[in-house]
Amino acid sequence: MSITEFASLQHYNTLALEARARALAQVCQSADLAAACAWARREGLPLVPLGQGSNIVLAQDLDALVVLMATRGVDILSDGSDEVLLRVAAGENWHELVQWALVKGLYGLENLALIPGTVGAAPVQNIGAYGVELASMIEAVHAHVIDDDTRLVLSRDDCAFGYRDSVFKHGLRDRVVITAVDLRLSRRPRLQLDYPALAQGLRSARVVSPTPIDVFNAVIRLRRSRLPDPAVQPNAGSFFLNPLVSMEQAEALAARFPALPMYAQTDGGIKLAAGWLIDFCGWKGYRNNNLGIHPQHALVLVNYGNDSGRQLLQLAETVAQSVADTFGVQLVIEPRVYGE
Ligand SMILES: Cc1cc2nc3c(=O)[nH]c(=O)nc-3n(C[C@H](O)[C@H](O)[C@H](O)COP(=O)(O)OP(=O)(O)OC[C@H]3O[C@@H](n4cnc5c(N)ncnc54)[C@H](O)[C@@H]3O)c2cc1C
Repeated sequence: MSITEFASLQHYNTLALEARARALAQVCQSADLAAACAWARREGLPLVPLGQGSNIVLAQDLDALVVLMATRGVDILSDGSDEVLLRVAAGENWHELVQWALVKGLYGLENLALIPGTVGAAPVQNIGAYGVELASMIEAVHAHVIDDDTRLVLSRDDCAFGYRDSVFKHGLRDRVVITAVDLRLSRRPRLQLDYPALAQGLRSARVVSPTPIDVFNAVIRLRRSRLPDPAVQPNAGSFFLNPLVSMEQAEALAARFPALPMYAQTDGGIKLAAGWLIDFCGWKGYRNNNLGIHPQHALVLVNYGNDSGRQLLQLAETVAQSVADTFGVQLVIEPRVYGE
């Protein structure tokens, strides 16, 4: 494993923000990870694991050893007539895994097609899309403790998954590197078609009895039509979480804004669509020099050529403030911000 000091991270975050890491290393096998942890301890530096940098905002240089997780491999742990248990290395590309599973006739991941990033980062925010969350397929998460090189195996319950949330954003934040994820997939299609845009997408494609491959293709069409490709227009996907409000707050908002979409949650709360709130405030398509809000997707902040994470965060703050002023709802940034 080689370590590069004072390395640019501009090519390692999908917002293409310029920031330098005090040191950068690529981890291709578990021995590299132990060596990287030892190096960081010797230098007195924190260690920051990165996948593809599709859910981070770099607001300043990182005085840390940044470790790019590039371990590969998919092992079949058990192969039953109904279900298959896989162990997938952290550095595997998420979308390639979804494709691989479909080709093997292993189902459950179709709705999560084309989400950028690595398998190791996926449990951190319990990736979700089109009515499915990763948590429903996770059997266990394997992690390496940065401070003492011990190994943890966390069950699904241990991971405390929630909406874009997990223990890796709380108790285990900055303490572990996820090394592998065990996923239980089905040999029988178990389609999840409740999400209205997905059902509509299948109808538009005149698919009457969808297969998992139809769902996979419909999700890809939808995502390509709505979300900018970070390689062309640097972005981090949805920049804000959908806010959760109480029933009382939702009723008060519904009286003032009858068209405001609301989604009832199992805990009695109500989820609002952050994109709708931002769009209502007139931000969709906003552009100021090298920063803007995507013209088709009000939740996506686009970097048209700006280097500075701080400027991007200033725009995010202005957007959030206008939503707070209009609706009394506080938006929370989804990507992890480094160097606020
Ligand atoms: C265009 C676009 C669309 C998106 N759509 C969706 C979507 O539909 N649904 C969704 O949920 N997300 C979406 N995202 C967000 C993003 O794709 C996911 O959060 C993804 O899981 C991030 O993977 P990554 O490898 O890029 O993580 P990174 O951005 O590299 O890291 C994100 C965080 O996880 C930590 N981390 C990374 N790897 C590890 C590891 N091995 N161990 C411990 N911590 C780790 C990092 O330290 C960092 O804090 C989208 C992003 C983009 C750019």
